[in-house]
Amino acid sequence: MNDSPSFHMTPDEFRQAGRAVVDWIADYYERIESYPVLSQVKPGEVRSMLPPDPPQEGETFDAILADVDRIVMPGVTHWQSPNFFAYFPANASGPAILGDLLSSGLGVQGMIWATSPACTEVETHVLDWVVKMLDLPEKFLSSGDGGGVIQDSASGATLCSMLAARERITEFASNERGADGRLIAYASSQGHSSIEKAAMIAGIGRGNLRIIDVDEKYAMRPDRLQEQIEADLAQGLVPFYVAATVGTTSSNALDPLPAIGEICRKYGLWLHVDGAMSGTAALCPEFRYIHEGLELADSYAFNPHKWMFTNFDCDCFFVADRKTLIKTLSILPEYLRNKATESGAVIDYRDWHVPLGRRFRSLKLWFVIRHYGLEGLRYHVRRHVKIAQEFVRWVEGDADFELAAPAPLNVACFRHRGGDAVNQAIMDRVNAGGEMFLTHTKLDDRLTLRMSIAQTNTERRHVEKAWRLIREAAAAVTAEQA
Ligand SMILES: *Cc1c(COP(=O)(O)O)cnc(C)c1O
Repeated sequence: MNDSPSFHMTPDEFRQAGRAVVDWIADYYERIESYPVLSQVKPGEVRSMLPPDPPQEGETFDAILADVDRIVMPGVTHWQSPNFFAYFPANASGPAILGDLLSSGLGVQGMIWATSPACTEVETHVLDWVVKMLDLPEKFLSSGDGGGVIQDSASGATLCSMLAARERITEFASNERGADGRLIAYASSQGHSSIEKAAMIAGIGRGNLRIIDVDEKYAMRPDRLQEQIEADLAQGLVPFYVAATVGTTSSNALDPLPAIGEICRKYGLWLHVDGAMSGTAALCPEFRYIHEGLELADSYAFNPHKWMFTNFDCDCFFVADRKTLIKTLSILPEYLRNKATESGAVIDYRDWHVPLGRRFRSLKLWFVIRHYGLEGLRYHVRRHVKIAQEFVRWVEGDADFELAAPAPLNVACFRHRGGDAVNQAIMDRVNAGGEMFLTHTKLDDRLTLRMSIAQTNTERRHVEKAWRLIREAAAAVTAEQA
């Protein structure tokens, strides 16, 4: 029982419990490979172990932590396991976890500069660093007309870019009267689902999101984009926004930004570039070609919370013209009026995204960048790409398998030649084994296996083992069918 008279955890108790939690996390990382990567619990199993009613009296911290082991851990899928190859990486790292802890400890609300100046200024400064780290166009620096902000997610960034684009084209009339149903947005068939969601939320309507065909590399076809824009104009509609993707979720395709950007310029459309996972690759000069044409974009976002070792949530969103974004989202209630804001000398980030309140998220990013340094970050990105390219060669060298899409970076889409049922059975089999976890996509309507190779601690030996497990599963599945 917790018998503190004030019910609070005293600083001394916090010290003790805090050390226990840090030790718990360190132990977890030491033994992470011993857990089945994909949680094996059945629906409802976790809840069935929780008491029906909340406790009347406080409990000891030891009891709480013990239940994490007993109740929570069996229901955890281990995203931080080096044998995690599913979806995309959601990388954590020591410095990021500690930066996040410090942010919790400070517990500040950074909605405007005045509510905690450091929360704003560290963020602005670190995001300017990021522009230099990825060699992004200078117009995204806060020293000019642009600037960066940390968003909760790439989805949030896409939504904000679409809202700003909507206001730019309607000269801020949509904020007053709502969108009029004639605004048309464009994305490729491989664009992320968050683009469709943004069209719904922004009042554009998903029926007004045009899905543009892709080429044989699953990249957006600029000729088709232009044709569609012309067709929409001919009908009296108002094209206003294109979301291009650098590294699609499904197959890691790279949309051709120079051609798409030229079309956006020609017709006056806002170009948003979504580099959620793959943007991180631009840390390395040899991969910066993925951003070729980015100087034509109005906004850009990528997620350090994917490949850049900064735990969720941390999306970096950059705009070339911050005034439009701020004018789109700013509302100033009386109780937040203050001298600093009125002087115009400060940034108030509440005007850069949907929520008002905001955590001190730049601490974890700052910690990561300082801990690894550019060289440390590049070391890991290069390592991941190198191992992924080796995996690609193993697939290409095996007569039973084929590569399903180009693999420019760290994602390999491949399939067994035996067809959808065989591929599904291979995937189910390796995932049930617990030694690895991979997921699938559909390309040209065919089930396609997908290895995303970018977990913080993934090494060559983990990928080698994964390939062995995949081939063993294939042999077992085809033998069963014979
Ligand atoms: C993962 C991903 C997203 C969604 O990211 P969130 O930060 O979870 O919203 C969007 N676009 C692409 C290309 C992605 O890979």
